Amino acid sequence: MKVTTVINLPYEQKRDFYLQLSDIKKAAHLLQTGGLVAFPTETVYGLGADAINEAAVRKIFQAKGRPSDNPLIVHLAKLEQIEQWVSEVPSVARQLMERFSPGPITYVMKHRGDFATSVTAGLTTVGIRIPDHPLALALLELADVPIAAPSANRSGRPSPTSASHVEEDLNGKIDLILDGGSTSVGVESTVIDVTGQTPVLLRPGGITLEDLQSVVGDVLVDTALQEQPRSPGMKYRHYAPKGEMWLVTGEDMVKKIQTISREKMKSGYRVGILTTSENEDKYTGAQIVVCGSRTSPESVAKGLYDVLRKFDLMDIDFILSETFPLSGLYLSVMNRLNKAAEGKTIS
Ligand code: AMP
Ligand code: MG
Repeated sequence: MKVTTVINLPYEQKRDFYLQLSDIKKAAHLLQTGGLVAFPTETVYGLGADAINEAAVRKIFQAKGRPSDNPLIVHLAKLEQIEQWVSEVPSVARQLMERFSPGPITYVMKHRGDFATSVTAGLTTVGIRIPDHPLALALLELADVPIAAPSANRSGRPSPTSASHVEEDLNGKIDLILDGGSTSVGVESTVIDVTGQTPVLLRPGGITLEDLQSVVGDVLVDTALQEQPRSPGMKYRHYAPKGEMWLVTGEDMVKKIQTISREKMKSGYRVGILTTSENEDKYTGAQIVVCGSRTSPESVAKGLYDVLRKFDLMDIDFILSETFPLSGLYLSVMNRLNKAAEGKTIS
């Protein structure tokens, strides 16, 4: 199987996607006939397959090397289609959908038993999302089947935020990549369980906890998200760069990074530093990679996975990362950084 990049347009040129309708039609046809297509969404690139077709969905797990007990998110073109696939849309979900969908948020609801077993990992619930990206929506509409799509990376690698990231990980393993340029949000969707009285945040993402609270008031936070620090050998290693990675916190964060990086370089390590535009001039000697500006959490989220991949490409074997306050979009950024560093923190 050869990967073909059929569309190469920056995200900003939204309207032009429709000039490439034949390419999207080709991708839709591949999905309808059991193929695997990687496509851009506003969060990260997804690896899609027909969510009703068990054989097709299994190919996703194979291509990614994903453990089979980790369920996939189902993507639909329109809000109105959700009712067709779930036994009930709870009122709290309706409120959230009205405000945030299409967008970077996934609702966990009770399904009607129509999806391939591998999509839900045998659970009675399913995660459903309407992405907010013109190319993704056009593809979903033309395919006219629900599309199961996890992030289009090899399991354990940072999620892909550009078509070239997908190619790095999955070249030769999938049928097609639709290239829509870099994704705008850069971290995955917020996952929220709406099956109970009070919604439960399962994964922080593009929609912040504060945003959710502003609409529905009470939101519980899943206990797994509160475990600190996360120990190595947790069930799934995620977003992990090849080098050993440490997060550095506290008021003298910059000073600590300066000191430790000097020591490590002296001992012969290739040291990388994840920094922000405000601090980049404060470090010397190590490989400095700038991930946005501290005053713009959006810029940090957008650049995060590309930066983690850069450390691998530069063969860095010791990474020191700056950290961010645990609120707003930075909560999602810190969740990903914690996973990448397997909880290793210098405070
Ligand atoms: P990914 O597709 O790699 O972005 O990961 C999908 C995320 O959604 C994972 O964290 C899953 O555990 C979560 N998820 C999907 N379906 C369900 C479900 N039915 N119940 C709980 N979590 C889910
Ligand atoms: Mg993923």
